Amino acid sequence: MTKHYELIAIGAGSGGLSVAERAAEYGKRCAIIEGDALGGTCVNRGCVPKKIMWNGAHIAHALDDAPAYGFTIERNGFDWRTLIKARDTYVHNVNSWYTAYLAEKKIDVITGWGKFVSNKELEVAGETYTADHVVISTGGRPVVPDIPGAEYGITSDDFFLLKEQPKKVAIIGAGYIAVELAGVLKSLGSDVTLVLRRDRLLARFDSMLSASLYEVMSAEGIKFLSNCSLAEIKKKEDGELVLIEAKGATSDTFDTVIWAAGREPVTDNLNLHATDIKYLENGEIPSDEYENTNVQGVYALGDITGKAALTPVAIAAGRRLADRLFNGQSDRKVDYSCIPTVVFTHPPIGTVGLSEEAARQQYADRVKVYTSSFTPMAHSFTQRQHQTRMKLVTVGEEEKLVGCHMIGDSVDEMLQGFAVAVRMGARKRDLDDTIAIHPTSAEELVTMR
Ligand SMILES: Cc1cc2nc3c(=O)[nH]c(=O)nc-3n(C[C@H](O)[C@H](O)[C@H](O)COP(=O)(O)OP(=O)(O)OC[C@H]3O[C@@H](n4cnc5c(N)ncnc54)[C@H](O)[C@@H]3O)c2cc1C
Repeated sequence: MTKHYELIAIGAGSGGLSVAERAAEYGKRCAIIEGDALGGTCVNRGCVPKKIMWNGAHIAHALDDAPAYGFTIERNGFDWRTLIKARDTYVHNVNSWYTAYLAEKKIDVITGWGKFVSNKELEVAGETYTADHVVISTGGRPVVPDIPGAEYGITSDDFFLLKEQPKKVAIIGAGYIAVELAGVLKSLGSDVTLVLRRDRLLARFDSMLSASLYEVMSAEGIKFLSNCSLAEIKKKEDGELVLIEAKGATSDTFDTVIWAAGREPVTDNLNLHATDIKYLENGEIPSDEYENTNVQGVYALGDITGKAALTPVAIAAGRRLADRLFNGQSDRKVDYSCIPTVVFTHPPIGTVGLSEEAARQQYADRVKVYTSSFTPMAHSFTQRQHQTRMKLVTVGEEEKLVGCHMIGDSVDEMLQGFAVAVRMGARKRDLDDTIAIHPTSAEELVTMR
């Protein structure tokens, strides 16, 4: 017998959970279809386990710095398994919490992989379900390029399953996942090489951030294999892996190779050709600013849309969609133009708005930039003397703030408030008129000249 709902979300990740949760709050009868653990990428193999690893790496740095503050520290190594066990327990607790929470909200969880039978008809494990509103939020997965030996590499998903710490690891990629994993592994004691197709990290970020990160990572002992056109991964008899470049050059050997060379949408399992839903060759399902697909009553949000692939974006899209559909807020939508984000490197990066390069392209000589570079007080007498760098990008006579970019300790926690200021259209003068908080690194942002 076919079961009918007012809303069905396919995928219990950041987007699917949020839209169903908000719709249920408006009294709608909702279901979520999920073939894996509740919580999606963020909870199970993304933000959450990653941040726990980052916290561990942060403690390793604090231990390095402690002697400069008078502590006598005897380091007796680091036990990967202890950290992994604590991390996995935390993640399982989040999964269980979701089970209880969805039951409390009276949202049905349909366990299994959903596929379309027609535009608003879905099949899961032989049962059929229909809904007035269908939300596709099936997320993304890591890309593994099609080269010989690619299967010897692991992905970021597999990274979170590693029972032993890699001793010597090559990470292929220059995006945020690559640099975050590199930072964690290096801080916890692995020998790390980042393999770059060109020679720049975080290509779409402000160049100050890319250059500073490269400098810090080099100083921390991360190695780089730049301008590498990778042709093959070879496994030697002893199990060690070697990277072979297109021109024949061979790399050092590694016990682990991690692919972090991009992600792709998970839509090939949805049987979309049984529907009228438009999708692109790369699997993305385009949705408009209100998350509508081309089929009325079918929506796409989160990573599958090719918009900003971040958890808070998928959450905001889901919540606003439910507000619009079920709470009469007909104009409610996400503003995709000003999304703050943090890269959890060591030290972290925080960025919102236009990079200097993008602003100059858009506004030419109307752009004025303010920068600051300093050694944070906490590190003035430790061995780790990386510069904190900050940049404000302003436009026009009013010096309207259009970008804020930072790398340094604690900028991950600093950014949120400044993102509010950028979104509200703050001018440089508003920052100048704000009384600084002393002594902090954040005060630099309101005292730049
Ligand atoms: C290593 C890593 C670190 C990250 N760190 C951050 C971070 O620090 N901050 C941040 O904001 N973002 C981060 N992200 C990105 C973030 O995880 C995603 O943007 C977010 O999870 C997207 O949410 P979503 O709802 O679109 O998809 P997902 O969370 O991926 O959820 C999709 C769900 O759909 C399910 N599914 C797929 N197909 C079907 C089907 N046919 N039937 C039923 N279920 C299906 C999947 O099993 C999955 O559970 C990170 C990602 C990775 C990989």
